[in-house]
Amino acid sequence: MTIKALADHVVSQIAAGEVIERPASVIKELTENALDAGATSITIEVEGGGRNLMRISDNGSGIRMDEVELAFARHATSKLENADDLFSIATLGFRGEALASISSVSRLSCVSRHRDEDMGTQIKMEGGTLLQRRSIGAPAGTVISVENLFFNVPARLKFLKSDSAERSHISRIVSRYAMAYPHVRFRLEHDNRTVFQTTGSGNLQDVLVSVYNADTAKQMLPVKQPDERVEEHTTRVSGYISAPSLNRGNNREITFFVNGRWVQDRKLQAAVTQAYHTMLMVQRYPYVVLMIDVPPDEVDVNVHPTKAEVRFRFADRVFSAINRSLRNTLVEAAPVPEFIEPRGWSTGENRQISSPATWERKTAPAPDVLDWGLNLPTQPAQPVAPPPSQTGIGLGTPTQTEMPVGAPEPQQEMATPEMPLLRVIGQIGASYIVAEGPDGLYLIDQHAAHERILYEAFMAEHARSKIASQGLLQPAAVDVPVEAVSLINDNLDVMNGIGFEVEPFGGNTFLVRSMPAVLGQMNPEKALRVVIEDFECDETPFQNEFEKKIIARVCKRASVKAGQVLSGVEQKEMVRQLEQCDSPRTCPHGRPTMIHLSVDLLEKQFQRK
Ligand code: ADP
Ligand code: MG
Repeated sequence: MTIKALADHVVSQIAAGEVIERPASVIKELTENALDAGATSITIEVEGGGRNLMRISDNGSGIRMDEVELAFARHATSKLENADDLFSIATLGFRGEALASISSVSRLSCVSRHRDEDMGTQIKMEGGTLLQRRSIGAPAGTVISVENLFFNVPARLKFLKSDSAERSHISRIVSRYAMAYPHVRFRLEHDNRTVFQTTGSGNLQDVLVSVYNADTAKQMLPVKQPDERVEEHTTRVSGYISAPSLNRGNNREITFFVNGRWVQDRKLQAAVTQAYHTMLMVQRYPYVVLMIDVPPDEVDVNVHPTKAEVRFRFADRVFSAINRSLRNTLVEAAPVPEFIEPRGWSTGENRQISSPATWERKTAPAPDVLDWGLNLPTQPAQPVAPPPSQTGIGLGTPTQTEMPVGAPEPQQEMATPEMPLLRVIGQIGASYIVAEGPDGLYLIDQHAAHERILYEAFMAEHARSKIASQGLLQPAAVDVPVEAVSLINDNLDVMNGIGFEVEPFGGNTFLVRSMPAVLGQMNPEKALRVVIEDFECDETPFQNEFEKKIIARVCKRASVKAGQVLSGVEQKEMVRQLEQCDSPRTCPHGRPTMIHLSVDLLEKQFQRK
């Protein structure tokens, strides 16, 4: 093949691919433009997950009549003159690429009036070509409508995810910018329904209420500046972080803004994780919204096409400023619990299964037996109490409804090959059940064991497509993060399939009418939140795997925690139910439920052998 220079429109489309990957990228660029134009109110209307229409209206400065076409030319910007200016940049944009890119891969119309001029301008473009231009009366500000994104780049179109996934990306972008700019009033509409809005009050906590809910916002702590030495430091850190008690299963709610720019950065993530070290269980993550402000000449914003990454001149200072301010904030809010390294038995089985539990035990509130849906009397054996087998640890309903009262328990005395029959001796540390088996001593992790029990009960019902669902006495209204709204709406069936009856209740509120009976009295909000975390992952695995994953996660959250005192009856019931599990030796996530100390081992330890 001979070498040829690419045609201009091909160059534009290739370049557009760098900046505009999906509908949410359009929203990001246009929102940034509106913010750069000093808007105090930004409205974003989206149809069909952004495939059909995205319209962004702002009340910013507007574009001058004689500059409108220029704004859509590649590398045309009002924000930068020399490359050196990059190091004193105070705007979000600077490359002059967004409008050119967006217009080259869509049908676009722009109405803008500069605040110093009397008349506005309307232009229409298609695939980068100007179709129409006229003067038009309009309020000061800019309205850009983008229709049929990627209509001329079918390959891109194919890579888009479901409408709900794209909607969720958009909601995420808008809610992030709303956090970074609490003085700006944001409104987001999906298919003519307002899903999110902020007041522009300037108070970040108000925004957090809109993005999450009042309860979550209340549990977030304002970040303290590192310390008195702040004068020496050029890094300023502010924002909100969650107390350790408020946490989640992925790091998607850890958000950083560097000089008002939303960035993703592993090192910043690491600084946060380190600050929470020992305060959170493994694989749990806090909610964090951090504004990091550094002098413009200490950060290079020009290292990534979508400006999602930055490079710091003094990365270590930034890192330690974050680390210290978070640590200060957390320590002041709640003294850091002492962490005790567990001592493994010298059997080679040196598993650290107790480490997460150790912390929880030291900080858990007073044991609350009801919390996990246990219906057993806490006082031993009242004469009228039903036999334990019929109330069960959190899985009473199926047995109750499917077995006639008083029926003999099937195979209660049969030891499974996976686990011998055990005689319960008692509980230690409010975390472990001690039991005797035919060959020595068994220590059972009550949390892991209960997780396994719930999981198998749940999966058994699931396999029979008969998940027992239990109506709530009063439907619970639960507010979810905005970006989860469309995901939940799309997955109502999945939730129904696992026993959740949930219906939309306007805005980001859902009504939970019933929950899987297996979950007993788990708080509906907590249950729903756990389920959502799985929807958030981008790729949707096969339905069945998906449900399995959700079920495992829900069981983990619903199971009895370390630190809960169990009565003798409850301990026995738990062990009995564990014995009946198919895989009693591990929790659904693969951790051991029990440790076996054989008679042989004990004799060695006591140097009898
Ligand atoms: P950049 O933001 O990097 O300068 P863009 O292509 O996004 O590049 O925008 C080009 C120019 O158009 C901007 O520099 C700005 O002058 C003008 N512009 C774009 N959007 C708006 C808006 N909403 N309000 C006012 N001016 C705008
Ligand atoms: Mg821009």
